[in-house]
Amino acid sequence: MGNGQVTSSVPSEFTGKHVTVAGLGVSGVPAATVLQGLGAHVTVVNDGDDERARAQAAQLEALGVTVRLGDGATLPEGTELIVTAPGWKPTKPLFTAAGQAGVPVWGDVELAWRLRGLDGRKAAPWLAVTGTNGKTTTVQMLASILKAAGLRTAAVGNIGVSLLDAVTGEEEYDVLAVELSSYQLHWAPSLRAHSAAVLNLAPDHLDWHGSMEAYAADKGRIYEGNQVACVYNVADRATEDLVRAADVEEGCRAVGFTLGTPGPSQLGVVEGLLVDRAFVEDRHKNAQELAEVADVNPPAPHNIANALAAAGLARAFGVPAAAVRDGLRAFTPDAHRIAHVADVDGVAYVDDSKATNTHATEASLAAYESIVWIAGGLAKGATFDELVAGAAKRLRGAVLIGADRALIREALARHAPEVPVVDLDRTDTGAMIQAVQEARRLARPGDTVLLAPACASMDMFTNYNQRGDAFAQAVRELGA
Ligand code: ADP
Repeated sequence: MGNGQVTSSVPSEFTGKHVTVAGLGVSGVPAATVLQGLGAHVTVVNDGDDERARAQAAQLEALGVTVRLGDGATLPEGTELIVTAPGWKPTKPLFTAAGQAGVPVWGDVELAWRLRGLDGRKAAPWLAVTGTNGKTTTVQMLASILKAAGLRTAAVGNIGVSLLDAVTGEEEYDVLAVELSSYQLHWAPSLRAHSAAVLNLAPDHLDWHGSMEAYAADKGRIYEGNQVACVYNVADRATEDLVRAADVEEGCRAVGFTLGTPGPSQLGVVEGLLVDRAFVEDRHKNAQELAEVADVNPPAPHNIANALAAAGLARAFGVPAAAVRDGLRAFTPDAHRIAHVADVDGVAYVDDSKATNTHATEASLAAYESIVWIAGGLAKGATFDELVAGAAKRLRGAVLIGADRALIREALARHAPEVPVVDLDRTDTGAMIQAVQEARRLARPGDTVLLAPACASMDMFTNYNQRGDAFAQAVRELGA
């Protein structure tokens, strides 16, 4: 695989160019390596100066890269281009200085996009996915469908292969299924996907983007220059508005997905079947059956929506209906996304630790009838009234953990005063064990104990994976 080992014999636009890479880490190290290999003069600037940063710096310095640790604010003299880690806020002084000096700023995605086709490699088209929730799942479903159609592909982005590897590595692809975050889209001005989907749009990361409008505008960039289809969510008007605002290639179509009966130019659900009324001949009269709802794993409503979006992108790329079905059947979701852990005494225990915001948790709570809800952690500025009000009648009880649990407790008191609440005032490693035991006490046979925290995990855990693992371990101890 490439992993930045690419060196080009052909002079490129980067040869001799002074490029500043902002931020070490998952995107910075490979970006610096690739650019150095292409003959650029690379300087990496990084805010931190810890042990890990020093080790990464030493590795890059051995290749001839200049690294400045502990100073991510100053624009190195002579910089002609900045390639930034996507998470760096646009308001950082480095970017203000770049703006004043007329220096362009690219993110990792923009760099990968510009490196496609380098040295005569095949420039595989991108089918791109963004949204507040469901990106990883949808991209994986899409890759599974494309593979079932016999195409050489990979799910790239946050998971699996990195974008840079996918475009500079030796492996050739016919098409890539690309997950893009709002940060990455912000820094990717020239990206032009074959087709793209925005799954949904709910407030998230507003501290980074500055406002909901700015967040939406960055997500909407994914539709710019689309060639075949802009796939949007019929139930989420904001996604359709983004399609309308986009400047696309002549002939590119707006294609909706819906959990209801699809209209012309839509994919939807009819009597337990996923149905395509967009990529069929005479879409005003005809529909094509793609798969059964039961082929979607798990068949929770939001996940069926993800499957329809993936199917829409695959169909835009010309994939036959049977491959949609086969690809969905072959797909297994990643850990901690509505993962069924065990049944104990007639109660199902489900780990959706990946539900780190209220929008994801809303979808999760909507998938079950009677729930003991384990929630809490870092709220990231969120409010919980709407979430709790919408789910109140399905809550058997709630067990609250983590730093911002009072916010959820207050919302429960306002909108679901009858629901029993256990408030756990502890953050040690035993907290999840107690949370699961309390949940068991509240649950009755037929209920679901659902870990869908609506919050980030870093107050108590390293990440959502560790939180989910702690939950699963605690559940296993119940059965022991
Ligand atoms: P992302 O990559 O956007 O974070 P994931 O596929 O990893 O998305 O899922 C993240 C969380 O969002 C999970 O908790 C999952 O249950 C929930 N989720 C997945 N798809 C959707 C959707 N279409 N709408 C709302 N929530 C969703």
